[in-house]
Amino acid sequence: MIQSIDYAAMVALLRAAETKVIDKHEWLGQLDAYAGDGDHGTTMKRAMGCIETAIGASAEGDLPALLTDVGWALLGVDGGSTGPLLGTLFNGLAESAAGQSALDAAAFAAAFEAGLAAVQRQTKAQPGDKTMMDALVPAVQALRSAADGGLGVAEALDNAAAAAEAGAVATTDMQAKFGRARNLGERSKGSPDAGATSMSLLFRAFAEAAA
Ligand SMILES: [Mg+2]
Repeated sequence: MIQSIDYAAMVALLRAAETKVIDKHEWLGQLDAYAGDGDHGTTMKRAMGCIETAIGASAEGDLPALLTDVGWALLGVDGGSTGPLLGTLFNGLAESAAGQSALDAAAFAAAFEAGLAAVQRQTKAQPGDKTMMDALVPAVQALRSAADGGLGVAEALDNAAAAAEAGAVATTDMQAKFGRARNLGERSKGSPDAGATSMSLLFRAFAEAAA
């Protein structure tokens, strides 16, 4: 079980995310096609490729630099707001991790709080709007609660994954307030949001890699 997130652990988390998202990308595209343009699966698959490229080019052992490289790689991913928002999240993580070679549960929670704050400067989406925020916000809150409760990183990530999954499932009955799905109004209800779902996959993959 991973006790803290250093460079090697972060690489393991990211590679687990790549595997899971690439495995599920057709399903993510189907979810997006329900009320959007159906490109979320291919966008996320491309994003995972960019993460792998960033890992390969990264300076071995330098956690903040890895997070920065991943953030910048994601910022450049085409396909609507997904890449820029994920890139912003990772750049927020990187800023919070500056000067640290490993993050314990408290530092990891603080990093995600910084990442979330950075994302919130880019989007007005709130939980309830049927976006990635419906998974990301409860996941970050779960990381904080776990850290404050003295849990380790692996347990914190397991709680965060469960919170993200619950948040993603809860978007099924929500009406979209952002993106193309917004134009469908009531008809955007009935399928979970693709972005919230992919965010929950990231946290579940992180949790599995840390366990
Ligand atoms: Mg789309």
